[in-house]
Amino acid sequence: MTACTQTKNPFLQEWDTPYGIPPFEKISLEDYIPAVKAGIEQQEKELEAILNNPEAPSFKNTIDVYEQSGEILDKVTGVLYNLQETDGGDEMEKIAEEATELLTKHENAISMNKKFFGRVKSIYEADQSALTREQQMVLKNLYKSFTRNGVDLDDASQERLKEINVKIAGLQQKFGTNLLAENNAFKDKFGIPVSSYTDEMTTCEDRTRREEMFKAYSSRGNNGNEYDNKALALEILKLRAEKADMLGFETFAAYELDDQMAKEPAAVDKFLSEIQTAANAKAKEEVADMQKIMDEDVAAGKLPKGSRIQPWDWFFYAEKVRARKYALDENQTKPYFQMENVRHGIFAAAHKIYGINVEPLEDVPVYNPAVETFKVTDSDGSLLGIFMTDYFPRPTKRGGAWMNAFREQYQDKDGKDVRPIIVNVGNMASPTGTEPALFSIDNVETVFHEFGHALHGLLSKCAYKSVSGTSVKRDFVETFSQFNENWAFQPEILAEYAKHYKTGEVIPDSLVAKITNARKFNQGFMTAELCAASILDMKWHELTSEDLKKMSEGDQASNVAAFEEKVCKEMGLPDEIIPRYRTTYFNHIFNSGYCAGYYSYLWSEVLDKDAFEFFEQNGIYNPAIASKFRRTFLERGGSEEPMVLYMMFRGAQPDPGALLRARGLE
Ligand SMILES: [Zn+2]
Repeated sequence: MTACTQTKNPFLQEWDTPYGIPPFEKISLEDYIPAVKAGIEQQEKELEAILNNPEAPSFKNTIDVYEQSGEILDKVTGVLYNLQETDGGDEMEKIAEEATELLTKHENAISMNKKFFGRVKSIYEADQSALTREQQMVLKNLYKSFTRNGVDLDDASQERLKEINVKIAGLQQKFGTNLLAENNAFKDKFGIPVSSYTDEMTTCEDRTRREEMFKAYSSRGNNGNEYDNKALALEILKLRAEKADMLGFETFAAYELDDQMAKEPAAVDKFLSEIQTAANAKAKEEVADMQKIMDEDVAAGKLPKGSRIQPWDWFFYAEKVRARKYALDENQTKPYFQMENVRHGIFAAAHKIYGINVEPLEDVPVYNPAVETFKVTDSDGSLLGIFMTDYFPRPTKRGGAWMNAFREQYQDKDGKDVRPIIVNVGNMASPTGTEPALFSIDNVETVFHEFGHALHGLLSKCAYKSVSGTSVKRDFVETFSQFNENWAFQPEILAEYAKHYKTGEVIPDSLVAKITNARKFNQGFMTAELCAASILDMKWHELTSEDLKKMSEGDQASNVAAFEEKVCKEMGLPDEIIPRYRTTYFNHIFNSGYCAGYYSYLWSEVLDKDAFEFFEQNGIYNPAIASKFRRTFLERGGSEEPMVLYMMFRGAQPDPGALLRARGLE
């Protein structure tokens, strides 16, 4: 064997690139798995050293050392999971799958390590008054990562828990596969994919076809065939409830919420019910608007006498209302939203609000030629971090938009501040042969949204990686991205960026007024269906093992249907509206991480709108308020309880009324 032909694995080297940006051009597919294995081995050794330390456990000799461990894994996972989604392919998928399997096993071994838990527990239960708040949070999170996984249980219960986790994983996957089959059946029947459902319902003149489509769409997974998801959903819920029970929680919702900002199911129920009531009332007004247009169609002989708006008429007549009351021709707005201008807009807004500066960075490694890199500095010139944009679709990129960190902000072993490397990825409108990239309103919002996440990462000033930047609770993290959207269409910000790509003229006020008006369209319906799905999710997960056992006996199909119907009735959902997702196709909660968590979208929006009202009350460019926002939230990541931070900023609990006002529901 000739060892001399072996090239060096870049993940196992120091990165001598500018700002420590990953040396993308040196990384090849063969490097990932060996690096993951080496990274696991490295962290195992680091953990072993912690456990073999003969001194009494302390924050310094245990938590501090553990927080600094796993350097290779951080490097390789940062690159692997971003590139899997931006420049993937079959081989990359295989690599990512293998890596995930190795990492899950590794992480499980850590969270089930009783010796490690023993050390952490003794530190957690000792006097914590000498620790900073951030250290206390790091400690608490780590402690909970053990207890929530059942490290404290006896051997038999641990075995059962393992079994439950495996069963849930299998059932969730089956739920997803069934749904896929049902989606395909929909496509075969109507000739359009499920993703085009709303568009088709909006434009389809044939009322009978609309009715058939609605019925097929809303009964996916509920057809009593081999792909039926009712019994499966019940089984998943039952296992989750049993798991919660074993870990000392009354319901699975209580177990989930215990680790979130909202803390308790009752807090979520209360705010959802307030929003639902207001949304229902607005939706009824919207029905009345639509009915007027339908009555015109009746008078014109297009529909039989006595026709009333039905669920399958909603999108179709809402579109007619939109055309009359909220019309906005995006062909008129797009020329003002060239990609480079919009991107300048997010930078200009951040400069105006937080005083930070952004400048392009040339000659640094990029993972794709489409990526552009920027250096972000504070008003005193100090480096905040590196920011990359990757906005256009390509065949290897998955859909949607997201923010990712190649490196989180943290302080290293010597207390040196390591600045983050952040990327925003999207699938926005690309340049054509004749025109530059001209963004839709939706694209503009997305760019501001993702930059909100980026700011949360870039402005971070924490000591510990595990709580820095966007490493916050699921129901808190979207607050800052949604908050950043508030700036997109402010006249002063628009004046900085929304310039016609040919003439340089700033977008006229009349168009801005149309954009603002259009954003109020159909909000009753959209809020009602979103909130209804959030409530349905909560109600399912608030059932106890006992409740679910009863429901599983007898006719499961009709029990599931009856429960869903009862929940919708109790929330007062108008007959013309169904929850955005019904039980049998609610993939977010039965095959994804949003179980007892779908409320997070609305919860974050309440925080965002309530915080923005505080800006509005004090002048939205008030530097003192912006500075308070930055220091309280954007610099502190998860280093303090979210509600404590919120109270510090706002001086009061978040008010759901702020969301209602922003959506025009009050
Ligand atoms: Zn987001």
